[in-house]
Amino acid sequence: MSAAPLLRQVFGFDGFRPGQEEIVNAVASGRDVLAIMPTGGGKSLCYQLPALMREGLTVVISPLIALMRDQVRALTEAGVAAAALTSGNSEEDNAQVIRALNARELRLLYIAPERLASGATVPLLKRAGVEAIAVDEAHCVSQWGHDFRPDYLRVGELRRALGVPLAAFTATADAETRDEIMARLFNGTEPQIFLRGFDRPNIHLAFQPKDTPRRQILDFASARRGQSGIVYCGTRAKTETLAQALNEAGLSAIAYHGGMEPEARRAVETRFQREDGLIVTATVAFGMGIDKPDIRWVAHADLPKSIESYYQEIGRGGRDGAPAETLTLYGPEDIRLRRGQIDEGQAPPERKLADHARLNALLGLAEAATCRRAVLLGYFGETASACGNCDICAEPPDTFDGTEAVQKALSAILRTGQTYGAGHVIDVLIGNSTERISQRGHDRLPTFGVGRDIPRQQWQAILRQMMGRDLIRPDPERHGGLAITLAAHSVLRGEERILLRRDLTARARPAVVVRAQVDDEDAPLLSALKAKRRALAETARVPAYVIFPDRTLIEMAQKRPQTLDEMAHIGGIGAKKLARYGEEFLAVISGAASQMHPLRKALAGRASGALFDRLAEIQSRLSRGEDGTEKPLSVSMSALRRIAEDRPRDLARYLDAARIERFGAAFLSEIALD
Ligand code: ADP
Ligand code: ZN
Repeated sequence: MSAAPLLRQVFGFDGFRPGQEEIVNAVASGRDVLAIMPTGGGKSLCYQLPALMREGLTVVISPLIALMRDQVRALTEAGVAAAALTSGNSEEDNAQVIRALNARELRLLYIAPERLASGATVPLLKRAGVEAIAVDEAHCVSQWGHDFRPDYLRVGELRRALGVPLAAFTATADAETRDEIMARLFNGTEPQIFLRGFDRPNIHLAFQPKDTPRRQILDFASARRGQSGIVYCGTRAKTETLAQALNEAGLSAIAYHGGMEPEARRAVETRFQREDGLIVTATVAFGMGIDKPDIRWVAHADLPKSIESYYQEIGRGGRDGAPAETLTLYGPEDIRLRRGQIDEGQAPPERKLADHARLNALLGLAEAATCRRAVLLGYFGETASACGNCDICAEPPDTFDGTEAVQKALSAILRTGQTYGAGHVIDVLIGNSTERISQRGHDRLPTFGVGRDIPRQQWQAILRQMMGRDLIRPDPERHGGLAITLAAHSVLRGEERILLRRDLTARARPAVVVRAQVDDEDAPLLSALKAKRRALAETARVPAYVIFPDRTLIEMAQKRPQTLDEMAHIGGIGAKKLARYGEEFLAVISGAASQMHPLRKALAGRASGALFDRLAEIQSRLSRGEDGTEKPLSVSMSALRRIAEDRPRDLARYLDAARIERFGAAFLSEIALD
């Protein structure tokens, strides 16, 4: 069968994402393929679709059991005969899979690389009539990467033993890794290579200097209430304190870090995968096992490690192609911390140099005065024009020639012996005679007070931007005192001019632009559709997006199909899902107006109506507690109506103790926001 109808009928997609079609064609025609696509580019489809276009079985090697399980579930939901052989299976599961294999019933078989170590696997696959191999996360074969999986080295053998074409997929593009993949997976025979661009145009990029960092994160998260998000934190302790602060603000958040027991970590992953609108505050340990396409935002409470880490971490947002937002906070402390980590690490000197450079690239992005996406893609070797989807494009910054100020600061640093931190250097610049200044005689320096015309706060921002451009660095040999770098010499000599951002020298503004997923009038229907999806997902014990992705529900809310035929034209609804869920969602749409609760109808068109809807949504979300395991509780429609109308600060007159405990905090913060 050819690609287009399968794409529509099985996967419910209207068309290919950029690059997919060429890859699908190459894989389907039996070529060896190496495809490098950014995260979220839609790699799975590139082997799943060809698997259905040919006869027989396609084996998929994938490193993560949780991901395999989700993929198999999603495929089964779409009516495709798929299964997984992993250590997570029971004996019974395995027997079932092996039976299906021997009967040649399966089209896709996911196996963990560890399976390849067993002598029984190759004969089993031979009997099963394997026609092709697909390798997900192919960079796991690279010994130099962070994700090296020794069992991946067996994939090459498997290919030889089966004598079938192999398609390898990864998001990691550097030339060394590519060469290693070619050597180890393809025995040096040249596969057809596809290199898809790195741009993820649906991800909005924004940076802010830390001002009131906790507030900045809380504001950002509150403005995105009900949407799934990740807050990356620099330390384990911060994941805990931020989760608590978010919960106190009435949001639903949970911490995740490498110090937690594996079981607890898995529980967080599963909850995040399944639940709508949960926030995970996490260290970078959180990510690899997460395959949630509808993460709507990613915030960095601290500066990431390098530009690569930044790209990978924000890349976890918006994999479904719908808009996703990011906010990265940074400050001089972050720069100091990251530099220190590199300097104090065990890596050989040339590696440290490279790490500093990758940090510099990220800082350059943080302090950028032109389109962030153009800067980011530029780092990956791509050219791009202003994107229109970053904070700088939205509001081009006010810049000024900061050369003179920078020279003054450099000279103050030099004259004080490159041993002091920013505070002391600024004291010298603005002529502040502290005890230490007079003790060291720094008030007699020619630079003392030369920067009087600029207030302290602005000097802080200037020094931070100087660190960002790697003109100065905290020197670990001198207890983090600021030292000038080679790059600063040409500025000192007046050979280079430095453009600084003025807005970053003023107080940072909080990012509280609320972006709704749909227009106001469609919002109630969208939340009704989401509630239906949640109910179906809970019954089937699958993540919500396996039923339908956000994008599909949004389109439903906007187009409001009235018949199954109209429903079939919504993106993301294949034949199987139409048959399985179509009616139920149609009922939600047609019932949206008529089924409105009579008490809610009385509020129609009034401001309290919208609040009522949100309270109702909260009560359904929390009906079984934050983690969905507690005994069901609900609040009557009439109580919700009274609360929506009165907007009380204290719920004692409206709810009993158990309900206040379950819903109180979330209700009150919703009222406060209203
Ligand atoms: P990757 O593995 O490259 O990170 P996935 O294969 O998980 O990405 O795909 C990311 C998301 O994009 C999934 O939700 C998938 O359903 C969706 N997707 C893939 N291809 C298409 C397409 N042609 N049209 C619409 N959505 C797509
Ligand atoms: Zn831009």
